Amino acid sequence: MHATILIPQRPATIVDRSDVVVVGGGPAGISAAISAARNGASVTLIERYPYLGGLASGGMVLVLDDMVNGLEITVQGICTEMIERMRSKNLCVVPDENDRQIDSRDLPESWRRWARWGLFDFHTPTAPHPICYAAAFDPDGFKQVAYDIFSESRIKLRTHSWFSSAIVEDGVIKGVVCQTKSGLEAIMAGVVIDATGDLDVAANAGASYIEDTFILTTVSRWGGVDTEAAERFEFEEPDAFKALDHEAKRLIGGCWSYWWLKTPLPGVVWLNCPHMPKLSGLKVEDLAAAEMEGRARMGRLLEFARAKMPGFEQAYVVDFAPQTGVRQTRMLQGDYVVTKDDVMSRRHFADTVCRGRDYYTPYRAMLPKEVDQLLVAGRHYSATPQAQKSSREIPPCMAMGEAAGVAATVALNAGTTVRKADITSIQKQMRAQGADPGDTPSANASYLEAAE
Ligand SMILES: Cc1cc2nc3c(=O)[nH]c(=O)nc-3n(C[C@H](O)[C@H](O)[C@H](O)COP(=O)(O)OP(=O)(O)OC[C@H]3O[C@@H](n4cnc5c(N)ncnc54)[C@H](O)[C@@H]3O)c2cc1C
Repeated sequence: MHATILIPQRPATIVDRSDVVVVGGGPAGISAAISAARNGASVTLIERYPYLGGLASGGMVLVLDDMVNGLEITVQGICTEMIERMRSKNLCVVPDENDRQIDSRDLPESWRRWARWGLFDFHTPTAPHPICYAAAFDPDGFKQVAYDIFSESRIKLRTHSWFSSAIVEDGVIKGVVCQTKSGLEAIMAGVVIDATGDLDVAANAGASYIEDTFILTTVSRWGGVDTEAAERFEFEEPDAFKALDHEAKRLIGGCWSYWWLKTPLPGVVWLNCPHMPKLSGLKVEDLAAAEMEGRARMGRLLEFARAKMPGFEQAYVVDFAPQTGVRQTRMLQGDYVVTKDDVMSRRHFADTVCRGRDYYTPYRAMLPKEVDQLLVAGRHYSATPQAQKSSREIPPCMAMGEAAGVAATVALNAGTTVRKADITSIQKQMRAQGADPGDTPSANASYLEAAE
């Protein structure tokens, strides 16, 4: 235990007021802001870093997945729009429709074409996994497209602003305070959406939460890779490949099966590794240690790959992601807490407002019990740690953000609170703007609605 010191209270300058204030400019926050602005609200987005995108750009998490239920595309709306806008700039790759399938054993050549893009449904028990609708994208493309939509939607952007405290009066959130280079700044709001990924706002405002950790990762990119030569070796000399891949994985010390994946930039691959367990994404000491440990392991891997692995002879480090890869920290314990069983059994809820892969997210999982006019969208939504692990990919977080933006405007337009927002109106508006609210469940949904 450390000693403590009391900090004197200081005034904050009120710099802005908006109908909706979104804290966190990651995938969920971007979608929430766009969705609220397109529905007529004045919107301010607050972000600690200089750029939009969160883990998708600053964390260099470069595959959008968890968007399909078999061949059905279940996450649409703003996520699909961003994919299409990035594709039009040649900064995003999606498998051709002909190559998408239920069982990859039927089409081995499409597996060879797409496996090293990571565009497969890794939740299926059989390998090779089915190639599916998913997207490999460029991090700067993600940022640029977000900026384009932000300026079209007239969203007020306050980057370089680190949320520090919530302004709560009689259980209702009224605004937020940020630490900036100019001192403390307050932004007042009708509705606040916490999209910080770590529940910074709701936790500070007094909402219940639990804390857990999953693996941390220092994602990086290498250039100068002859990906064709590397794939030829993998598919045509499988035994020799397996031996080298095994040694590479030993050096990484924890990774998924496909530790390098292609990106839309020729010769540039991304490395979604190493896995570093038992470290907290909330602790300065752990985050600093992860950066050093991750770099050391990846340095040893690069040396090995250059010496031994066909295609990697000229490889070099392009960059390490500016943001440490944090998957799980605080999770809201809100009006409903989504369980692993809900996710795995594809439980459908009457108040479903968005969906991921083949599972459904109830509106109550975005509502803190203790604070009004506050919505939570993103990887810190109300779930158990095990449920969060299977439902925290970028597209479902974007869908949740889009639903939160709609819900905020539905409540404001009706002159009611977000807790009382009309579910049918949220679902209808989600559908009207091209998103799938999950109100019409797929054939494989389960209906154990007793939990409601
Ligand atoms: C290494 C790694 C690999 C992954 N692989 C995949 C994958 O292949 N495919 C996939 O779809 N998903 C993957 N994920 C999961 C996915 O990246 C996240 O779950 C998703 O990005 C969550 O989106 P979010 O908007 O909720 O949070 P984040 O992306 O974390 O965004 C939160 C935003 O809030 C900002 N913020 C935080 N605190 C404050 C504050 N106090 N003040 C102001 N701003 C603040 C942050 O800077 C950030 O911009 C991976 C995650 C990691 C870490």
